[in-house]
Amino acid sequence: LTRVHSSDKVGLMARTHGDIDWERIHGLSNYVETGDCWRECGSYCCKTNHAEFSFRFIRAGQVLLPLCPAEYDYLKAQGRLPDDSPQAVSRLAVELEPDRSAAVYMVRCDRGGLCDHPDFRPLICKIYPYYPYPSPEGDVEELVLGSVFDVARWAKDGHLACPALQNEEEAVRGKAKQNYARLFEHPHLIFYFRMGWGVMQLMLEHLRAEHSDILELPLTDYFKKWEVLYMTGKLTPAPEVVQLGRKEYEKVSRVWGDFDLE
Ligand code: SF4
Ligand code: SF4
Repeated sequence: LTRVHSSDKVGLMARTHGDIDWERIHGLSNYVETGDCWRECGSYCCKTNHAEFSFRFIRAGQVLLPLCPAEYDYLKAQGRLPDDSPQAVSRLAVELEPDRSAAVYMVRCDRGGLCDHPDFRPLICKIYPYYPYPSPEGDVEELVLGSVFDVARWAKDGHLACPALQNEEEAVRGKAKQNYARLFEHPHLIFYFRMGWGVMQLMLEHLRAEHSDILELPLTDYFKKWEVLYMTGKLTPAPEVVQLGRKEYEKVSRVWGDFDLE
């Protein structure tokens, strides 16, 4: 794929997400070579029924997986969503401009590690326990934590719940970083991965600035309070998410030209 510089894009239509090469992306089943790591932890990352989680909104045993619009459309068309019953899917969107919205689909999974479509796991599962943060050009700049729960826990006491992360091997991390490169050959995915980490940053900033008292609570109480703040949007205020989305669209489209977000 050729990157389009804004000076070259006169007369070009906005890139559609229909030209993402999903076969190439899903041609790789394991982005991170952690072997049968689930044997050690009982698929910790696929579940929420942990002693330290006592949630009100998030049901025990279920995880909510964030999918960008292109990924959602692809997996749905292929009949490979983890759960495609209407009540398992919700769409959250913010309007960036009158004719441009950014959206994320939250898809429920209650399989607890026994995926129905292992080779077509959502990307958020395939990339775990890391989350690659790409530059606007699509280079993997850094690897950060791969779930919002991991980020929230790390903010409290620096603990890493995933055993594969606790015993991280430099070679595995390096190989994963190489593997992630194929995710960032299209601006749609670059934008949404940048947004994902940007929203996590907002969550951390608001947690530390306005709710630092909860960081001192015992773990279960902390997660109880954190969940309410997070699920009610207090840690990620909509106007700031809109600002972030506008800024990220500007950065990514400056490199790749206009592209569709939905
Ligand atoms: S990635 Fe980590 S949390 Fe998930 S199954 Fe492997 S060791 Fe467990
Ligand atoms: S799709 Fe598979 S890997 Fe992802 S949360 Fe569900 S069971 Fe776990």
